[in-house]
Amino acid sequence: MQLMNYINGNFCPQTSGKWITNLNPATGEEICKVPISNSKDVKEAINSAKNAYPNWSKYTPHERAIWLDKIADKLEEMFEEIAQLESMDTGKPISLSRNVDANRSVANFRFFSELIRGMEIEEFEMKDATNYVIQKPNGIGALITPWNLPLYLLSWKVAPAIGMGNTVVCKPSELTPMTADLLMRAVDEIGLPAGVINLVHGNGIETGSLLVEDSDIDFVSFTGGTVTGSKVASSAASTFKKLSLELGGKNSSIVFADCDFEKTIAGVVRSGFLNQGQICLCGSRIFIEEEIYEDFKNRLINAVEEMKIGDPLDEETDLGALISKEHLSKIEYYANLAIEEGGTLLTGGVPCLPKAFENGNWMAPIIVEGLSPESRCSKEEIFGPMVTLHIFKEESELIKMVNNTRYGLAGSIWTKDLDKGRRLSESIETGMIWINTWLHRDLRVPFGGVKDSGVGREGGKWSLGFFSEAMNVCVKHE
Ligand code: NAD
Repeated sequence: MQLMNYINGNFCPQTSGKWITNLNPATGEEICKVPISNSKDVKEAINSAKNAYPNWSKYTPHERAIWLDKIADKLEEMFEEIAQLESMDTGKPISLSRNVDANRSVANFRFFSELIRGMEIEEFEMKDATNYVIQKPNGIGALITPWNLPLYLLSWKVAPAIGMGNTVVCKPSELTPMTADLLMRAVDEIGLPAGVINLVHGNGIETGSLLVEDSDIDFVSFTGGTVTGSKVASSAASTFKKLSLELGGKNSSIVFADCDFEKTIAGVVRSGFLNQGQICLCGSRIFIEEEIYEDFKNRLINAVEEMKIGDPLDEETDLGALISKEHLSKIEYYANLAIEEGGTLLTGGVPCLPKAFENGNWMAPIIVEGLSPESRCSKEEIFGPMVTLHIFKEESELIKMVNNTRYGLAGSIWTKDLDKGRRLSESIETGMIWINTWLHRDLRVPFGGVKDSGVGREGGKWSLGFFSEAMNVCVKHE
């Protein structure tokens, strides 16, 4: 199977003749060939978005919301196919693909449809004049997404972007292109006006960078690694493109002695290892108050060892495969580094699985203790099934350790003392904190990070703000 780009309402072959082989992470089998789109393909996609823009940007928000609903309806029909493709492409458990990926992809379109329908024009009265603020589209957008939540994150960008009247070119991760292709099939089937959504496949160095640097691109919404984000920011800067960067994380789970022990174990396990720890929000450094450290550690190890690792398509599976051989090597590198840095591996390693999975990328969840909070393993983003445990006694010392990383995306605090939880939240350098929960998402709230975890916010009205330009009109009274 060879994937095609989607440009101006047509599935078109790429022109470079170069391909990437997309492998099933669980088995190592080939899924499809992914085109590496070149400058001609990218330019065609951008021109298609440019041609569609004048008409699409004149639609009323209500008319565009109707299209978002149509996309949501079509994706809902394709719900099971989304889940199956996502599991095959990413190696994640099918239960997760259904409950998180497929669900959220539909929900994103519905949510933004409703939000856009309810938009109101803001007015500011002066004694002798009225100001009103209109939100105009930005223009032509590049939407670039990573492999860990493929359609979930792509739909999170596409829905508000086109909902606000922009036209776009999408560039999904070359490692997980299948549900982006499905989204193009969906928009094709419902007859969305040609050119509103275009898609070019390819890698970052060739296709992605061509897209970002093109002078006809007005804005870039990028989700991915911090190093890539910095390259995207440099390339976008020379032409003053509007930019949203959702980047890496090294998030803390903070466990106080007064927490609800059982709920906290479940929450910290989920936060550490959901999607094999490959979620930017995962809590990969766990700070535990001294008096419960040993008990908590032992229960955590038991809970993690009880998780079922294996066939992503089995409903009972808790943990699937890692995205690629390269990513597996990265996790192995950090596991070895943890030992070099003085840590002890309490559990984890290569699991024993049936023969069908011998060429897949597998790693059972790793828990490390005894590392200094200064160690690389405790501060760098690993983005896999590996967490480090740390003991704390005092809140002041805890805050220093938690903030001692270049990242600032998310975190969770586990305590029955909600005042303490709220107070501590404010001292943490991060974009999001959950208290006694994790990844509990309300789509209306701001999403994004500080420090090296990103620039800007998406989510709810923040997405509408990013995907539009606010223009003020001041009318002097008679
Ligand atoms: P990545 O940075 O390697 O790639 C992300 C996307 O950027 C891919 O589509 C890739 O092809 C493209 N790309 C690569 N180089 C490019 C360039 N020079 N110009 C333009 N595009 C380029 O990231 P990844 O490995 O796919 O994803 C994992 C990372 O994403 C982790 O760091 C994770 O924390 C982060 N992430 C962040 C969030 C968030 O919301 N903050 C969400 C999910 C993942």
